[in-house]
Amino acid sequence: MLLRNVVVIGAGPAGLTAAYELIKAGVKPSVFEMGSRVGGIARTEVYKGYRMDIGGHRFFTKVTEVEAMWQAVLGDDFLVRPRLSRIYYDRKFILYPLRFVDALSKLGLARSSIILLSYFQSKLFPYRQENNFEEWVSNRFGRRLYRIFFKTYTEKVWGIPCTQLSAQWAAQRIQGLSLPRAVWNAIFGQRGAKNVKSLIEQFNYPRLGPGMLWERTQQIVEARGGEVRLETEVIKVLHRSGQVYGVVARHHGIEETIEADAVISTMPISELIARLDPPAPEDVRNGAARLTYRDFLTVGLIIDQANLFPDNWIYIHAPEVKVGRIQNFKNWSPEMVADVHKTFLGLEYFCLEGDELWSMSDVDLIQLATRELDRMGLASAADVEDGVVVRQPKAYPVYTGDYEVYLERIRGFLDSIPNLQTVGRNGLHMYNNQDHSMLTAMLAVKNLMGLGQHDVWSVNVERAYHEEIRLPSSSLD
Ligand SMILES: Cc1cc2nc3c(=O)[nH]c(=O)nc-3n(C[C@H](O)[C@H](O)[C@H](O)COP(=O)(O)OP(=O)(O)OC[C@H]3O[C@@H](n4cnc5c(N)ncnc54)[C@H](O)[C@@H]3O)c2cc1C
Repeated sequence: MLLRNVVVIGAGPAGLTAAYELIKAGVKPSVFEMGSRVGGIARTEVYKGYRMDIGGHRFFTKVTEVEAMWQAVLGDDFLVRPRLSRIYYDRKFILYPLRFVDALSKLGLARSSIILLSYFQSKLFPYRQENNFEEWVSNRFGRRLYRIFFKTYTEKVWGIPCTQLSAQWAAQRIQGLSLPRAVWNAIFGQRGAKNVKSLIEQFNYPRLGPGMLWERTQQIVEARGGEVRLETEVIKVLHRSGQVYGVVARHHGIEETIEADAVISTMPISELIARLDPPAPEDVRNGAARLTYRDFLTVGLIIDQANLFPDNWIYIHAPEVKVGRIQNFKNWSPEMVADVHKTFLGLEYFCLEGDELWSMSDVDLIQLATRELDRMGLASAADVEDGVVVRQPKAYPVYTGDYEVYLERIRGFLDSIPNLQTVGRNGLHMYNNQDHSMLTAMLAVKNLMGLGQHDVWSVNVERAYHEEIRLPSSSLD
């Protein structure tokens, strides 16, 4: 198909990858981004010269097309960084991925023996049907290990009991890992375990954080004739007779209709459906309105100490504090801090838009984070110099209830508008990393250009697993 006006909604990893691919194919897209900077959830925020991720973003992929784009755009600015992450539990720091002697000495012989007994008990008497996350994990790790290493943290992240999270989610995120495998790796290292998502020990990282990649991509797209309009929200997607023909965008209160012969959307799929004009059928709209999300906020603290701890990040499994994870941005890349004599930490809180944490004032959140840091003994409150809060709505698409039924309904309807492609994390309502978002965007461009009929909905299953393309990251990002 000959493409002239392609509108891309969103300048996160998926939207900018789509724009980059279109530019390579000679098409000059218009990208509309409602935020004031590019990168979406993979942007880098800057406060007084201190740089912060929305969660730490590791770059690791088995998708060759994605790796090639990272290398091409970043070149020498794509650093290889070692990973050190530990779990804070019961006032101890346990290496993660687990190391046999370390875990044994931190947990103690008695507790470790109970973990093993509980594992054998779960093997002898497993849940016959794995209906939820708790049952899936307990069957593989034993109930005791599940309680120490999965329950508290997972419930902090998702804000609901593990019995309400789907077993499919566990299968997707912790695929390939089991207690024997974890113990084997702890004793003998990771040979033969290259493909296990949770055990990756080094990763690439842009020198100035993930936003650097997307700011560079924006420059490439603009230099070659595409446009990226910031602070411009798409409020309507116009279609008729099974074809999309334009969008209505709003910039600082002024609305404009832009014609398009194709649209690639990376906005949350629930919002895409709600913004279709004319409206989608009622059952599709109802299904979309029932999709849910988990939100996220980071309290960045500048601390007057050069070296606090060596980890890139620490998982906080302690139930006595609300913080879920702590990033030490300087350990991701030394250039993330404005002053090398100081440390910039990101204390991450998982929440829901409008809940108690989300609605707290920035001043109160900075105080809470300072108190919790002090309480855990990671830094002294007296050394905290300054702070900043960054809120991220819809950080995680949630897999609860009948979400698959709703998605199937939505997908059935969207299939009837082939020149409208929805891709990316919230665009497909799939809890995945950048490489997945990027790959779906690449395939959507191919679809629009008539270079194949790729099913972006099954990338995770068919390409990622069957074609040996693995997604990165741990079960716990
Ligand atoms: C805490 C956390 C940690 C993570 N860690 C990693 C990691 O280590 N490695 C990794 O690879 N990935 C990681 N990810 C995942 C990664 O951030 C996402 O996969 C990626 O950002 C998704 O890209 P996207 O373009 O699909 O969506 P997004 O990043 O959400 O971008 C969508 C963009 O669309 C814009 N938009 C939405 N609606 C509209 C509208 N109506 N009009 C205009 N613009 C609109 C948004 O403002 C946004 O900029 C992490 C995510 C989180 C939450």
